[in-house]
Order: sequence, then C-alpha cells, then structure tokens
Amino acid sequence: MTSDDHVIVVGAGLAGWRLVEALRAEGYAGKISLVGAEESAPYDRPPLSKQVLAGKWPIEQILLATQEKIATARIDTYFGNKAVALDAENKRVTLKSGKVLVGTHVAIATGVGARELPFTGAGAMYVLRTKEDTQELLEAIERLEEDDQVVIIGAGFIGAEVATTLHARGIKVVVLEAASRPLQGPLGETVATWLEDLPKEFGVEVRTNQKILDISEDGEEVFLEGESIRAAMVIGAVGSALDVTWLEESEIQLDGGVVVDEHFEAQPGVGAIGDVAKFPLRVGSSVEMVRIEHWQLAAEQAIVLAKYWVSEITAEPLIPYFWSDQYGKKIQMLGYPSPKDSIHLFKGSLASRSWAALYSRNELITGVIALNQPRALMLSKEFLLKPTAVGEALSKEF
Ligand SMILES: Cc1cc2nc3c(=O)[nH]c(=O)nc-3n(C[C@H](O)[C@H](O)[C@H](O)COP(=O)(O)OP(=O)(O)OC[C@H]3O[C@@H](n4cnc5c(N)ncnc54)[C@H](O)[C@@H]3O)c2cc1C
Repeated sequence: MTSDDHVIVVGAGLAGWRLVEALRAEGYAGKISLVGAEESAPYDRPPLSKQVLAGKWPIEQILLATQEKIATARIDTYFGNKAVALDAENKRVTLKSGKVLVGTHVAIATGVGARELPFTGAGAMYVLRTKEDTQELLEAIERLEEDDQVVIIGAGFIGAEVATTLHARGIKVVVLEAASRPLQGPLGETVATWLEDLPKEFGVEVRTNQKILDISEDGEEVFLEGESIRAAMVIGAVGSALDVTWLEESEIQLDGGVVVDEHFEAQPGVGAIGDVAKFPLRVGSSVEMVRIEHWQLAAEQAIVLAKYWVSEITAEPLIPYFWSDQYGKKIQMLGYPSPKDSIHLFKGSLASRSWAALYSRNELITGVIALNQPRALMLSKEFLLKPTAVGEALSKEF
C-alpha cells in the first residue's frame, strides 16, 4: 500500500476501529474513511451487559474512539450513515445519504444485530446490542417499582449476564429458556449439565423447556402454554441476526457471512473482519469455514488484515477465545469445539465450581472450557496451536 491508497472501513464497531488503529500502527499513511450506521463513534459492547448495566460504569467509559484518537488517526468519519451498496470491483461504497465513497480497499466490519422475536409485543420488548438499547434499558430499570418482575427470554450468554446484573441490582428476574438446559446449544449436553445449577445457586430462576406463544402488545404479559406471566419489562436475548442484504449485488461470496480467506480477504482489496466474517479455521485435523462472534477474535482479525494489506505479512492462525461473566462466575473458552465433541475434565472439580475441560473429536483437541480456572485455560492454549492428541494433553501437569 502507498499513501495514495484509500481504505474504506464499513462498520464502526470493534473490528472496524481496530483495523483503523492497526493500519496506522503498521505504517499506512494514506486516507481512511470510517463508515458507521450508529451515530456514536466506535465503542465496546461486552461492558453493556456487565459494568454499564450494573450502573458501575458511565456509558461514556466504553468509548473506543475518542475525539483525540480519531484526530490522531487522521480519518474521515461518516457516522449515522449506513452503507447501502458495494461495488466490490471498483471499491465504491454508497451510503444511505447518497454519498458515494471510492477507495482502493474496502473492509466490511458490520457485525451482527440482535435477533428479533415475532411477537405481538415485539416493539415493547427490550434488547441489548447497542449503546442506545442499553440507555433505554437503564431508564426502564429506573422506573421499576419494588416487587416488579423482569422476564428475560433466552438463557444464553447475554441473557445470563443480564439476569446476573439485574439480580445483583436487587431486581427480581425470571429467565425463560426453550432448551432443556441453558447453553446446551453452544457448549453441548455435558458441559450444560455441569453449569445448570449456577443460576439457582446465585438466586436466579431459570425456567427451561419454555415455549413462548406470544407477548402482549404492551410488553407486560408473556403467554406460555397453559399459563401467562406478568412482567414489568421483557428483555429478549435470543441471539444475533446477520444482515448482509446491502452486499447482495456486490458479487462477493455470501454464505451465512462474508466468505474470506486466511488473510480475511473476500477478493483482492476487499476484506471482511469481526462477527460478519466467515473464515477458514483449523479445528482438530480439518479446516472448517466458521463465523464466530467473539470480541478478541474481531480485534485480532483486524490486525491480520492490516498486516496483510500494508506489508503482505501472513499472520499465524488465530485461536478463538471467549469469556462470559455470569452468576458470579467466569466461563472462558478457547478453540471452536462442536457441542457433540467428547469432553474430558482435567483440572479442578465440578463440586468446587472451579474446573477446566478439554473438548476432542477423533482423539484431537478441538477446544478448552473453564469455569473460574483462567490459568489452566491459558496454559492449555498450546494444545490448539497444532493438532494435539487428547492423551498427550491429559498427561500434562497443571
Ligand atoms: C451485550 C454484549 C455483550 C458481549 N459480551 C461479550 C463477551 O463477554 N465476550 C466476548 O467475547 N464477546 C462479547 N460480545 C460480542 C462482541 O462484542 C462482538 O464479538 C464484537 O463487538 C464484534 O465486533 P464487530 O466489529 O464485528 O461488530 P460490532 O461491534 O457489532 O460493530 C459493527 C458495527 O457496524 C455497524 N453496521 C452494521 N451495518 C452497517 C452498514 N451497512 N453500514 C455501516 N455500519 C454498519 C453496526 O451498527 C455496528 O456499530 C458481546 C456483545 C454484546 C452485544
């Protein structure tokens, strides 16, 4: 790249901002335009369901790109201005305002949105994806009266974090989960069983096997089979929704994400990073095309793309890492195991609520999961750097 280049970064979230920083850190001196659908400059999402919802951090604290940082990075910003079309071959991005940006490189970093539920009262429900969502939620919490109950739909990672935070604020919460155990989908049956008592021990009621038929228009009654529950607020935490409709005419490959290669390029000069990118990842002995919604991965993918664009450096393969703070405990995971993989406890005990376990498939390690065992988790990262037999890993002392 030279200083005559122009990188258009679409999506002013974590991955988009980290790309801006990484391009400058790698020495790129050309023009950068940062386009974001939200009015805000880039900010960090994980604290939204944790410190911010807990009332411990003011919302300004999560800002990644302060005015000074934006000035230092010397970028043009187009916030509150969604990209609506991409001409990938000519690196032209059309914005909602009608403005057309023409560059030499385009990076797609548009993330995902909150999945909506098809209920009568969907409009009266709360979700937690953006700063604005969080602000609305915080204001609604202020209006709650004693004994008011909040219903959270979905006991996945975000539902569990919201339940934890609201419970810690002294609010009565009930979590409704469709599966027979929380986190069974992402973590598999065995690990879900190991974790299933955590909400109760923390004082949060999780009702499993719940089929929600509808939510009243005012968002204050949840209709289930055979009963209904009154709620002062209903919060939907049922996962994410990918929206790549603006790329449909672009001729880049879309397949449940923007398909990229190991450099995070969809085609020469067009990259995709973060939650939106579907990339090749070695899992055990095979390479899978995956799209993963993890904070650390989004940041690392931005660095990989920047190094490739600026210096043609091929980075080391990435190892997915994820954490979640829920029910007073920290869950951490490395790798990309399938819920069907075998599981082997290697550190701690289930009874102590402090343990670490390996996932394996065809005798090779595919992932590591830990509950309040950060050191064991980090020490086991080596098992994912190259194909590692489960027997070899289990013989190691921790
Ligand atoms: C409440 C919450 C808690 C989380 N907690 C954790 C956690 O504990 N651990 C963890 O590993 N991960 C966590 N995550 C996930 C993590 O935040 C994401 O993986 C990360 O933000 C992904 O970064 P991104 O840049 O790909 O997407 P985002 O950060 O979502 O940024 C994408 C941006 O692109 C914008 N955009 C979308 N479409 C367009 C368009 N057409 N034009 C212009 N802009 C567009 C969006 O408005 C958004 O601002 C959490 C997420 C949420 C919502």
